[in-house]
Amino acid sequence: MPKKHFIKAVCFDMDGVLYDSMPMHASSWAKTSDQFGLGMTEEDVYLHEGRTGFSTIDIFTRKQWGRPTNQEEVDRIYAVKCQLFNALPEAKPMAGALSLLRQVQRDGFQIVLVTGSAQYSLLERLNRDFPGIFHADLMVTGSDVTYGKPNPEPYLMALQKACVKPEEALVVENAPLGVRSAVDAGIYTIACNTGPLPDKVLTDEGASLVYPSLQALSDQWAALRDRLANS
Ligand code: CA
Repeated sequence: MPKKHFIKAVCFDMDGVLYDSMPMHASSWAKTSDQFGLGMTEEDVYLHEGRTGFSTIDIFTRKQWGRPTNQEEVDRIYAVKCQLFNALPEAKPMAGALSLLRQVQRDGFQIVLVTGSAQYSLLERLNRDFPGIFHADLMVTGSDVTYGKPNPEPYLMALQKACVKPEEALVVENAPLGVRSAVDAGIYTIACNTGPLPDKVLTDEGASLVYPSLQALSDQWAALRDRLANS
């Protein structure tokens, strides 16, 4: 842990952190994979969580069919995945998300959203579920980035938007590749293991702490904040 950890900003990932949406992503990807013969299991979806649709599909066409994918194929496959996902009920906010965000806001930290999602209605939905927390100028979405996670790009962009140095920020992530992206951006990263993977995959990527749920992090937030401030 860096000395004199003066935190100014806390960056939150969205799927699997603020929203309990990963089971829906996993099942719609696995069904799409069955339809196309991509050989992707639900566990694979959690292992590759955070990648763009193109990058995810490319990994499995190389593995199953021994060749890279292309944009036309990605558009065709990704459309099926989105159709299956959109037919599922809307994901609920993660238990503990609102209480954690309120504490972080009350403590005076900037709150930055960093997501690979590029939905137009994102801010509207965030404002409905977490009123008064998020601002358009403190959001990094899938449409802002070139590479996306696990590249550090999205978290470097978050630091820039919040005008803070890596050592002045914290990241809350749930996925191995999201952790890698944040750690490679030089940020102290806390993982909430809200999925089926073992904690080890998150610590192997560099997570400094792993909580068993977002609720657990929310419950222990004040203690963690004080510990980081005094370290
Ligand atoms: Ca995530």
